[in-house]
Formats: sequence, structure tokens, C-alpha cells
Amino acid sequence: MENAKEKILEVKNLKQYFNPGSKNEVRAVDGITFDIFRGETFGLVGESGSGKSTTGRSIIRLYEPTDGEIDFQGTKVHEISKKKDLLKFRRDMQMIFQDPYASLNPKMKVRDIIAEGIDIHGLADSKKERNDRVDELLKLVGLNPDHASRYPHEFSGGQRQRIGIARALAVKPKFIVADEPISALDVSIQAQVVNLLMELQKSQDLTFLFIAHDLSMVKYISDRIGVMNSGKLLELAPAEDVYNKPLHAYTESLLSAVPLPDPDYERSRKRTAYVPRVPNNEPEELREIVPGHYVYCRESDVDRLKKKRAAYDNKK
Ligand code: ADP
Ligand code: MG
Repeated sequence: MENAKEKILEVKNLKQYFNPGSKNEVRAVDGITFDIFRGETFGLVGESGSGKSTTGRSIIRLYEPTDGEIDFQGTKVHEISKKKDLLKFRRDMQMIFQDPYASLNPKMKVRDIIAEGIDIHGLADSKKERNDRVDELLKLVGLNPDHASRYPHEFSGGQRQRIGIARALAVKPKFIVADEPISALDVSIQAQVVNLLMELQKSQDLTFLFIAHDLSMVKYISDRIGVMNSGKLLELAPAEDVYNKPLHAYTESLLSAVPLPDPDYERSRKRTAYVPRVPNNEPEELREIVPGHYVYCRESDVDRLKKKRAAYDNKK
């Protein structure tokens, strides 16, 4: 089965620069390469400003990439130019946003918010079919269909995020970019929303790009994790390896920021600061240290990193 994994998304050397060529140029995404397999959850982590949202938005073609390729189920996303092709692509790829307050139109009833995709794509033949579908979607995300005629402000943050999820699911997508979907929610309801997303992944055959700024939540839900900083992917590996066998200094610094429910540990916990390396003439790129475990490094680092990885493996 391991070999039978099918790539649903291939990102090659993606660059997304803002104000390119000007003195205000921002290299938000600066040449990243990774694949996502059908059915998996790929966690993308990194502190604020790393380029995670820009990556997600480029993949779903909210931006025109500065350079690079995005291949989604055979569609060259970076080459889409016609509105009709973009529309078709967006049926298969949807986004869930961080802020459930800002992302729902306050003047629209929940029914119409959720049915937006159904209307745009003409997925219902009658008003009844449209309404039945909305009721079904509300139930699917754990909300009461009787509330369809209410407005977003009548719902809590967690409920609003469920509405956002129902809206994304309305067009039966294959792939969802979830950009920090729980960061704005109370800690007490974060797990509920994550559990819902994981249930939906199974029942609706979804693939997730799940963006987060810390490793604590993505650890449990991701199959693989990419660690991002300053527009680059610095480490990419199965979730347990990123968590238990980190090889890049930036990943170690992110891990040192994850609190544990152990007071003794918390008292002695030291946050390791990450100091980016001074570039020299040896190029840094994402290199495979052991199968499936990649680190952004120089060729001359590889031996040391292989030893570091082997030391972890022998410790167990
Ligand atoms: P993250 O989601 O990891 O917090 P972002 O992708 O939002 O990071 O931002 C990456 C960098 O790009 C930041 O320096 C941010 O200020 C900049 N940036 C994001 N969007 C724009 C934009 N539309 N115009 C100019 N700079 C932007
Ligand atoms: Mg972001």
C-alpha cells in the first residue's frame, strides 16, 4: 500500500513575491517543493509571517504565482487563466479560513451562505433540492437545520466555523486548504472542530492542507508535516518524525515552544531561539536525509544530519 500512494497535488519550486522588483519586494514564498497524497492531511507549520497563508492562497489560485508549478489532479493550476477554468478547479479545491467572523457575509442568511457554491455551479435543479442539500450540510457539520434562516452573528465562533466548513463542502470538493481554521476559536472548542474535520475527511474522501502556527495540534492530525520559515520549507517528514526526531534548528525551536501538561517540565522548559544561518557559497536546498525525511541544508551538512537521525533511531 505504501507504494500505491497517489499524488493529488504537486508543488514545484513555487515562488510568490509581492511587489516584485521594487524596493518593497516581499519574498513571501521563495521556492518551495512538496507533494500531497490523496487522502492525507499535510500540516504546514511555521510562525506568523512564514508564508503559510500565501502558500495556501497560491495553491488555490487566489494569486498568480511569480514562478513555479502547481499540478492538481492533472490540472496545471499556475496556468489557469479563464474564469470558467478557475470555477471548475474551485469545485474540487475549497478553502476554510482562519477568522469565522470575517469570512461570513453578515448580511446573508446561513442558508444562502452555504448554498453559494451550489448556486454558482448550478448543482441544484430546484429550490427544494437546494434547501434539502443545505439542511443535509448543516446536519453533517453538527448544526441544526432549523437555524438556516438565521444570520452569522447569531452563532458562536465554533458554530460559525462549522458554517464555513459546510459552505466549503457544498460543492463536494476533493481537497481543502484549511488556513488556521481553529486559531481564532476558544481552546475549549478547538478540539471539537478538529475532530469534525477529521471525521469529514474520512466520510467525504477529503485531502487536507492544514495550516497552523504551532505544532501542538497538527501533530495529532497530520500524516506529514512541512515546517516553513521565511518563505522556505526547512523540514518535511512524517508527523512523528518532525515531532520526535527533528533535524532542523528551526523545528527544534518551534518544538521548544509547545507547552506540555507537566508542571516540572514547564518550570524548566527553555525556549530555544532560532538564529538563521549566514549564507555562504554552498547552496542550501531541501535534501532527503533518510527516505521521506527532508531537511533544508547544505550538501556538507548531510552526513551530520544522517548521524543525528540515526542517533534518534537507535535511542528508541
Ligand atoms: P503566515 O500565513 O505564515 O503568517 P503570510 O503568508 O501571511 O504568512 O505572509 C508572508 C509574508 O508576506 C509576510 O511578510 C507578509 O507581511 C507578506 N504578505 C502577505 N500578503 C501580502 C500582500 N498581499 N502584499 C504584500 N505582502 C504580503
Ligand atoms: Mg497566515
